[in-house]
Amino acid sequence: MKITEHIAAAAGKKQTPISFEILPPLKGKSIESTYDHLDPLMEFKPSFVNVTYHRSEHMFKKRPDGTFEKVEIRKRPGTVGICAALMNHYKIDAVPHLICGGFTREETENALIDLGFLGVDNVLVLRGDAPKNESFFEAEPGGHRYAIELLEQVANMNNGVYLEKDLQGGVKTNFCIGVAGYPEKHSEAPNLQIDLEFLKKKVDAGAEYVITQMFFDNQKYFDFVTRCRAAGINIPIIPGLKPLTSKKQLTTLPPIFNVDIPSDLALAMMKTKTDKEAEQVGTEWLIAQSKELKAFGVPVLHYYTLGKPMVVRDAVAAIV
Ligand code: FAD
Repeated sequence: MKITEHIAAAAGKKQTPISFEILPPLKGKSIESTYDHLDPLMEFKPSFVNVTYHRSEHMFKKRPDGTFEKVEIRKRPGTVGICAALMNHYKIDAVPHLICGGFTREETENALIDLGFLGVDNVLVLRGDAPKNESFFEAEPGGHRYAIELLEQVANMNNGVYLEKDLQGGVKTNFCIGVAGYPEKHSEAPNLQIDLEFLKKKVDAGAEYVITQMFFDNQKYFDFVTRCRAAGINIPIIPGLKPLTSKKQLTTLPPIFNVDIPSDLALAMMKTKTDKEAEQVGTEWLIAQSKELKAFGVPVLHYYTLGKPMVVRDAVAAIV
């Protein structure tokens, strides 16, 4: 079922749909580790589960002679396989994240054909970040530079338009296309307005819903929705929520995700003495955020579980 259909089916109902984002397990771990992660969250009957995509990282490995060689290491492969496994195991919709980085257009086309055969109805289309240890995103030769180009490829395939001329008129895929949005702007955008203009272009090219970057101050989301509506972006804007669970994250999260931590949350977190206390502060903040967003009437509450499924479970249990 498409995300837009899940949202339409929930309209007017008391319960706000819930969804989760998970990471594929580290290479060498079993699918059971993913089920262990998700099992405690299944009681909330999520409408869908997103599965992130992780491209290769460039590392330097020492050779026996002491010199270094640059190698590509993929630590979390398996996005498509995990989606298929989740759909089979839990009978729910799984949404693979598709990125530009590391893919040629042809590889993307083939991946979309695989996803169509597997019965995947939704894709979240993203550019992807620069690999760790590299400062700038660079498109693969023959790949896409921006998410909108990848989106156009998916939209073309939804119209039966493939890369090779003699394949035109092929089977039409039927993906519901989601994109990322940034209430506090994307880190590379010069300002929020320009970022919003690029988001509008993605919507005009066929995006059907937005999932936002995490934020800890709901006002940032409310303002973002207002600005989007004023800019003619009228598709559902799903808030992405992550629990803050350690003091360390006060300094690590803002530069990575370009998010602000509100003073009240930061001060409460700074006062904690144990990991358990920190998690408690993060859980309470997440509950308060979720309640307010639910009352606002968000289309879905989407949680980044990122290794903390029990914190997310406690927070969701408090609002359903
Ligand atoms: P784009 O929409 O391409 O935007 C990237 C930047 O370029 C922005 O600053 C934008 O303003 C600008 N821009 C857009 N179009 C143009 C243009 N035509 N000309 C000039 N500038 C332009 N990353 C992963 O690697 N794997 C994941 O699974 C993943 N999941 C994510 C899920 C969510 C919900 C979110 C919010 C992010 C996720 N990311 C993931 C991170 C994402 O890939 C990065 O934030 C990336 O840097 C930008 O992706 P985007 O799709 O927003 O890119």
